[in-house]
Formats: sequence, structure tokens, C-alpha cells
Amino acid sequence: MGSQEVSSTVDWQGKHVTVAGLGVSGIPAARALHERGALVTVVNDGDDERARAQAAELEALGITVRLGDGATLPPSTELVVTAPGWQPDKPLFLAAAEAGVPVWGDVELAWRLRGDNGRKPAPWLAVTGTNGKTTTVRMLASILEAAGLRTAAVGNIGVSLLDAVLGETEYDVLAVELSSYQLHWAPSLRAHSAAVLNLAPDHLDWHGSMAAYAADKGRVYEGNTVACVYNAADPATEDLVREADVEEGCRAIGFTLGAPGPSQLGVVDGILVDRAFVANRQKQAQELAEVTDVNPPAPHNIANALAAAALARAFGVEPAAVRDGLRAFRPDAHRIEHVADIGEVRYVDDSKATNTHATEASLAAYDSIVWIAGGLAKGATFDELVTGAAKRLRGVVLIGADRALIREALTRHAPEVPVVDLDRTDTGAMSEAVARAAELARPGDTVLLAPACASMDMFTNYNKRGEAFADAVRARADESA
Ligand code: ADP
Repeated sequence: MGSQEVSSTVDWQGKHVTVAGLGVSGIPAARALHERGALVTVVNDGDDERARAQAAELEALGITVRLGDGATLPPSTELVVTAPGWQPDKPLFLAAAEAGVPVWGDVELAWRLRGDNGRKPAPWLAVTGTNGKTTTVRMLASILEAAGLRTAAVGNIGVSLLDAVLGETEYDVLAVELSSYQLHWAPSLRAHSAAVLNLAPDHLDWHGSMAAYAADKGRVYEGNTVACVYNAADPATEDLVREADVEEGCRAIGFTLGAPGPSQLGVVDGILVDRAFVANRQKQAQELAEVTDVNPPAPHNIANALAAAALARAFGVEPAAVRDGLRAFRPDAHRIEHVADIGEVRYVDDSKATNTHATEASLAAYDSIVWIAGGLAKGATFDELVTGAAKRLRGVVLIGADRALIREALTRHAPEVPVVDLDRTDTGAMSEAVARAAELARPGDTVLLAPACASMDMFTNYNKRGEAFADAVRARADESA
């Protein structure tokens, strides 16, 4: 089946499909394939109460479910549809490769099924990268909406892709967030245009190596028709464009925080400008928006806005809609979220900064910082991060299981910065962290929660960590009011 064809050309009737993994992508995939006449078997590693309840629902429809064994490939399988998180070296996939059985992820399935409800499929504007995906996709959707287009932010975010392509709502264009896992399992995806925002080591245990991780991210550019958008400050993203096989006439478009060259978007005197989608890019630049239209106007977020603008412009959106869309955009919670000012100290929640690359960006956004950090390091090292931020640190409060790793890096590279090491993980820990940070802060400083670590040693997830921080800050604000 050719990549541009859609699933209406596949005869699902009687086709043996194995769906790997119950869960957010597996259950809708199993249902959609079953409805099309496929003989579906769902295999799942877990066999707990929740899995049994989900299995019972699917079995009632006539779908076979095998709990407690996600490793063995059912013998008659003609296609495997997997949850994106399943690691590629699992025995199930090795067996599929040996038997010559193709493996599709949730994104590949959605791509193949688009148009299957008789509607004209909407083109995809795709975004990937180590950090900034959700923000950029939401900015993009906001710009597309401001242009009067019917759109949604979908993918590794709120609405599932399968729902978006098969549901009742008709779209002109989709703003699609894609993770490296999803791209790994999406061999025939062909976006209208795509952006790789940045590339830093992450999830290497899953992909096996940095090269494999980069290669999976680079798949987002394959077959693009109008624009491959790269980050001029991150040459690895431009390398991926060079390596991609794209449609004739597709252009490489860079974004930069500096003045743009031809075929780039960038910033001149506080204005976001486009020197790519203009009549004469050698001589001309088009004003899109002001830096202050970006919310918040931190450097990394301006980069996100430029990437979103580039994709929108590739789709033909007018400059005024870029400005209106950026102005209307509100960031999701826990992403450089301003919680309160107490005295003359600003408190900012960037609990979503769960790796060092994200934290580096958020530390770069403020001049004088009391930094709250720590949690589960996931194998990261902190030397580079601390070296880069040392001059701007008023003080540091460390929490969580792997805080010693950050403390050691601070001792090596910023020995003069005062550090409070909190040896407690109970529910009151965050409020003590905030109290100690407040003691260290001076007027004009920012107390910044940007942990550079995962949260699960102390909290259910990064949302809960951010809420604990915000609650503690608000309680102090009320006291001081
Ligand atoms: P993702 O969906 O890729 O996880 P988010 O938009 O949710 O990205 O942002 C996650 C975190 O990454 C934010 O809290 C912020 O600290 C950081 N971040 C956002 N954009 C960038 C960027 N362009 N470069 C580096 N870090 C970023």
C-alpha cells in the first residue's frame, strides 16, 4: 500500500491484527479495527483488575484479549498495531520481524485510517523535539484558529489522533504533536510540513543510542511537501532535514532568535519577522508579531513561537493571524507559570522541566534565581547545567531522591552559591522548600521550581509537584497580605 493512499483501499475484512497493549491507544485501535471487520487479538503484559475490566468490555464486542503475555506473537498475525511506548526490542517485535509482519504504532494507524469515514483527510502540521512540543503545537493551533481554520491540537496531547481522524468533527488542518516513540512506529507518515524544535539526549534507554533517537525524530520530515522547519541554533535538527527524503519543491526553513537570513524566521529589534514566506526573501522581511505578544516571552518560548509561525506560514496563514494567535495563546499549567509575587520576589512554577535541557531554558529566562531542583535524575548529569547557570544563582534548595547529584555539581562549579539540602520527602517537604527559598531570595529575584528531574519519588506526577509548589506559595502570599 503506497504511503499517500488511505485505508479505504485496505480490505480489513478477516485480517488478523494483533494490538499490543491495552490502554489509551490500544483500546480505540482495537475497536476501530474490529468495526472494519478485522479479527483482532489484544495482547497485554499486565493482568490486573483494571486490565480485566477493560478486557471484558472488548471481549463483549467479540475481540480476543490475552492478558499476562505481551511477548508471544499470535501465530496467524498479519499486522501488529502497538502502543507507542512499547520498547522495540521486545520479543513480540522480534517475532514479527522474523515473520515479515509489519508493525504500526498509533500514529501510523491514524495516518492510514484518515479519510476512512468518507471525509477529505486534513493535512498534518507536525511538531517534534526534546522540549517544547506541547507548547508549540498549542501555539500553532491558536494561530490556525485565528486564521479562521477548523483545527485541533492532537497527538501526544489531549485529543487522540484516531479520534481526530475518525470523529464527527471536520478539520481543515491538524496541529500534531509527535513523540520519538510515535515516530519510530510511523513509517509511512507524510506531513504537509514539520518542525524538529531541538535535539538533546532523552529516552536513550528506549531508543538504544542518540543516533537512533535522532533518526526517529528525523522521520517527521520524510515526505514533507511544503516546509521542513529546523532550529538554526541546533545544527543537529538541520542535519535531519538534509538527510530526509522530501517531496520536490519542499523547502528547509530555519528559525533563529537572531536576525533571520533568507528562508528563515527570526527576531529584529523585538519584532518576530518572516524572511521565508515573502515575495523577495533576499531583500524583504515581513513583520509577524512583537516579542511581547509571546506568552511568556522567555527566549526558548520565542523559539517555540517562531517554529509555530513557520508552520502556519507554510500553510498559507496571513501575518495578522500569527500575531492574533500568539496573543490569544495561554500556556498550559506548570510551564513557566507565574504563581505570585510576594514582596518583590516572583514565584514561578516550571514543574514540567523534567530534564536538564528544559531546565537550562528556564534558568536562562531570569537574571537572579533561587532555584528549587531535584527528584529522579533518570541517569542525567548536571555539570553543564550548573556551569551555565552559576552566575545567575542566588541560592539553591534541593529536594528528592537524586539531589546529591545536583549538590555535587554545585560544589564543583558554583561553590560560592548557598545550598539548602532538604532531607525529607513527606507532604510538607515542598512547603519547607518554598520557605527556605524565600529566606534566600532578595528583592527582584525569582524563585523558580525547575527540577531537571522526574517527580515520581515524591509526587504522582509533575502536575502534583507543581500544585504543591503553587499551594505553598499562595499560602505564603495570603499570610503576607
Ligand atoms: P514537551 O511537550 O516537549 O514536553 P512542553 O511544551 O510541555 O514540551 O515544555 C516542557 C518543558 O520544556 C517546559 O517546562 C520548559 O521548561 C521547557 N521548554 C519548552 N520549550 C522549550 C524549548 N524550545 N527549548 C528548551 N526547553 C523548552
